[in-house]
Amino acid sequence: MRSPISRRHFLKTSFFAAGTAIAGTSIAKAATPADADQEPLVTLIDISRCIGCEECVYACRDANAHKFADPKKPFPKMYPDRVPVEDWSDRRDVTDRLTPYNWLYIQYASATTKEGENITLTIPRRCMHCQNPPCVKLCPWGAAKQEKNGLSRIDAQICLGGSKCKNVCPWDIPQRQTGTGLYLDLLPAFAGNGVMYKCDRCYQKIEKGEQPACIEACPEDVQTIGKRSDIIKMAKDLAKEMDGYIYGLDENGGTNTIYVSPVPFDQLVYDTGKGKPHMHPVEDTMAAGSNLAIAMVIAPIAGAAAAVGKYYRQMKEEA
Ligand code: SF4
Ligand code: SF4
Ligand code: SF4
Repeated sequence: MRSPISRRHFLKTSFFAAGTAIAGTSIAKAATPADADQEPLVTLIDISRCIGCEECVYACRDANAHKFADPKKPFPKMYPDRVPVEDWSDRRDVTDRLTPYNWLYIQYASATTKEGENITLTIPRRCMHCQNPPCVKLCPWGAAKQEKNGLSRIDAQICLGGSKCKNVCPWDIPQRQTGTGLYLDLLPAFAGNGVMYKCDRCYQKIEKGEQPACIEACPEDVQTIGKRSDIIKMAKDLAKEMDGYIYGLDENGGTNTIYVSPVPFDQLVYDTGKGKPHMHPVEDTMAAGSNLAIAMVIAPIAGAAAAVGKYYRQMKEEA
């Protein structure tokens, strides 16, 4: 049975109930990064509604195609060659995992319900948009950023592709494409070997008051986006209603993506591995003293590196 709480209903009621003066169902005011006191924007994903149609996957690819890399070959040889070449440019049509050209995919999970029925669930998977994202805090070049509305994104103009963001991400989300980006101009044989890509929460669409493409395209209203307090309440109500389970409240210190499932997450059986993230419990990465210390040390360096990178890019574009 479909949950009675729909995305459109939520957007109509929650912002008005909160006294937010906005017209229609737009999320514009709530999502404007300039709002210093705004709550993070959070997405609720109701797994029980997803039919695995992949409309969201193709909408994401279409909406973000202009951000994808168009690398030139042959790629420069790396010294030492410990940073592997990762080239997805000839496999752009892959949709069954995360790649630099596919920022959202549908994960198939088998499960047994409380009633003993064997079912298959389809789960939209992409960046979790952690509240305290290690990919952002530990990026040595300041290429990964977090906006005031909680979304995190990687600036392809600054990223050198060193993969630190992926190494510290509990779900290994960012994906590298070789042969593109700043490293080709700076140190093609020695620097990071490409650019890292992941879901950026359609930040330009959100800035314009539009919905992320995957949410807009979904025929089943699987995803709902809104203020954190509203979404958390909604997730808890939904979990209670379906006697279900929540993922994302505490994982990695809390994420701005919340899943609700009718089956416990530790009983889901699915493929994991490269480009296929798990759904295990995750400790708060940034609570570790060593990571906190590293973040404090690299923050000013990363800020300076980002400024230099941006300046260099501008110079090159103007030349
Ligand atoms: S568009 Fe909606 S129903 Fe279809 S796969 Fe994506 S989330 Fe599931
Ligand atoms: S899920 Fe990974 S890539 Fe996404 S914000 Fe968290 S640490 Fe960063
Ligand atoms: S929010 Fe945008 S970038 Fe992220 S998965 Fe959805 S469509 Fe793709």
